[in-house]
Amino acid sequence: MFTPKSLLKNIPKITPKYVKILDKLGLFTIQDFLFYLPFRYDDFSKTVSLSDEHIDSIMTVCAKVTKVKLNRIFKRRMTIAEIFLEDENQTPLKAIWFNQPFIIESLSVGTIVRLSGKLSREGKYFTLTAPAWEKAAREETNTGRLVPVYPETAGISSKWIRWQMKTFLETAKYLENFVPEDLRKKLHLYNLSSALRQIHFPENSEKLLIAQKTFAFREMFLMQMKSLQVKNIWEAQSAISFDFDEKLVKKFTESLPFELTNAQRKASFEILKNLEKTRPMNRLLNGDVGSGKTIIAALSALNILNKKYQVAILAPTEVLAKQHFESFCKIFENYNFNIALLTSSYKLSPTKITRQKLLENIKTGEINLVIGTHAIIQKDVKFKNLALVVIDEQHRFGVAQRSTLQQETMELKDGEIKTVPHLLTMTATPIPRTLAIAFFGSLDLSILDEMPKNRKLIITKIILPTQRTQIYNFMRSEITADRQVFVILPFVEESKVLTEVKAATEEYKQLSAIFPEYNLGLLHGRLKSKEKEKVMQEFGNKKIQILVSTSVVEVGIDIPNATIILIENAERFGLSQLHQFRGRVGRGVHQSYCFLFTNTDSKNSIERLRALEKSNDGFELSQKDLELRGPGQLLGKAQSGISDIAMENLNNLKLIKIARLEAQNILTHDPNLKNHPLLNKALLQFSQNIHLE
Ligand code: ADP
Ligand code: MG
Repeated sequence: MFTPKSLLKNIPKITPKYVKILDKLGLFTIQDFLFYLPFRYDDFSKTVSLSDEHIDSIMTVCAKVTKVKLNRIFKRRMTIAEIFLEDENQTPLKAIWFNQPFIIESLSVGTIVRLSGKLSREGKYFTLTAPAWEKAAREETNTGRLVPVYPETAGISSKWIRWQMKTFLETAKYLENFVPEDLRKKLHLYNLSSALRQIHFPENSEKLLIAQKTFAFREMFLMQMKSLQVKNIWEAQSAISFDFDEKLVKKFTESLPFELTNAQRKASFEILKNLEKTRPMNRLLNGDVGSGKTIIAALSALNILNKKYQVAILAPTEVLAKQHFESFCKIFENYNFNIALLTSSYKLSPTKITRQKLLENIKTGEINLVIGTHAIIQKDVKFKNLALVVIDEQHRFGVAQRSTLQQETMELKDGEIKTVPHLLTMTATPIPRTLAIAFFGSLDLSILDEMPKNRKLIITKIILPTQRTQIYNFMRSEITADRQVFVILPFVEESKVLTEVKAATEEYKQLSAIFPEYNLGLLHGRLKSKEKEKVMQEFGNKKIQILVSTSVVEVGIDIPNATIILIENAERFGLSQLHQFRGRVGRGVHQSYCFLFTNTDSKNSIERLRALEKSNDGFELSQKDLELRGPGQLLGKAQSGISDIAMENLNNLKLIKIARLEAQNILTHDPNLKNHPLLNKALLQFSQNIHLE
């Protein structure tokens, strides 16, 4: 007797050879195996009699073998098995298989088989090439139905998996259902055992949909449960409340050289209202590149600084921290705030005091606003009364680091005030609403979906290799007009810093030869921060005309005079990321251009890049990215632990909302899940496998 807990290696019909492969796939128990889900289905459910009307369509036919023939083509070391059959109307059919001589033995004359595939016609014969088949006496498994296709690896075929799955499904009835029965019924979902049956061997496409929905819901439900728990823990803390000082805010906004957009107004209102509470804020400011998040951060900090409490602003890189430092010094130049820059490579602050002294000044509260990298909320930095932490370009911090950032913020109760600071995180790139709710459910959301009016549209063009010279000439004419150029060399994997450095260095050399009359700069992850700073400074004051940079240092840099960004191997990137690069230009008054270089032949890739030519709307592009490449792309590193089905359903706002509502419902009545032990268990397991905010 086997149960879901039975080990695959103890099952006689699974030989050691297979055990080894299954191990590699992370499948150890029958339960693991049951949850190895198909990634698509072959629809062989249409069973027909042979006739011309079915030519070119995928169908299943039942037929009797009348003759078999094996042809060997010695020259090409090939065999062709030809099987002649007749359907129930004696209509002749020929099926052929290449290099599967053993088929001759299985399909002896007189055998009745079911065959599935695309029907064609060759003279008097209907023909099938390499169809799926099984004996008609057998239960429909590989033909005559919606047939599951599994992610295959070497040595293991979908056919083999189907065969095993059929028997293992018997054990599914012993699996625990953590979704409460009444809820399951209310939502018209399957229980786990039926859901597994229908997802592996769907009776029809309607039932398959319900099964998929069931699986998606299970995960979304756990995700929401988890983030609500995190939210509850966060909200059980206390924070200092700051009254919305309208006069102060008004004076500040009136002094700005521009009008706030409506979206900016709304977001700052939400934040300032939130800061009035005695519960710590935990809010995500979700906005596109250039939508004006910095000024919102400043507005959030203003009132707090004015009351002599401290604020920390975290940027993902030193270059960005430096830039923020400069912006905030300017933004607050008419206020009496002490602002400091603190990074791990800190030597002397711009005011020429030692790190030691600076840390002391932060501890005594003499410094009001500390701007820096992640280093600033680590152990050796003590604050006097830190009341707000702003994390900029949040997704650049990486998934693992992000969840600890929140934890660390919560532990910052080391000053005079025994409260948790308010927390504002800002995205580097807009996150589609559904994704934000699904993954960042523990956060409140403010959305900047409107760009400042003065923005010029950036002209975006896909550039094929033959047009390279033309673009270089265009670069020359722009530089002659005193403009500047970014050249970005993207690489997908962050770990490959060395390759990236090498590629960037080579590109730098090449371009230096092409543009001997200009000064070029090179930025990459292996440069010391002093060196980076020097390059940035030289780019900033126009000593450098062309800046070659890796993606490591792509974030947030503000050079209004740069009007061209040229991205090599653009097809390797997600739309959102490219859009993010593109946001480096178009920050000044001049018309700007984004050139996407690619040598790909793939129609799909080009089609995908076209979206960038057509749209400047970050939310629209990230939504497209979500549909085309899944959320892993958008959230930085791949989110481990989330199944493909749940991922696919992340577009299903209704389902996510129901999951959230129902999770909330249960937690309200049973906060510690005492009456839901199965759910509690599933949740603990889920939390170990997944990274959420
Ligand atoms: P991001 O959201 O990418 O961080 P920033 O805060 O850096 O964007 O803003 C980009 C630029 O737009 C800055 O130069 C900023 O001063 C300017 N800006 C911000 N808000 C407005 C506005 N409402 N109108 C005009 N310009 C604005
Ligand atoms: Mg920014």
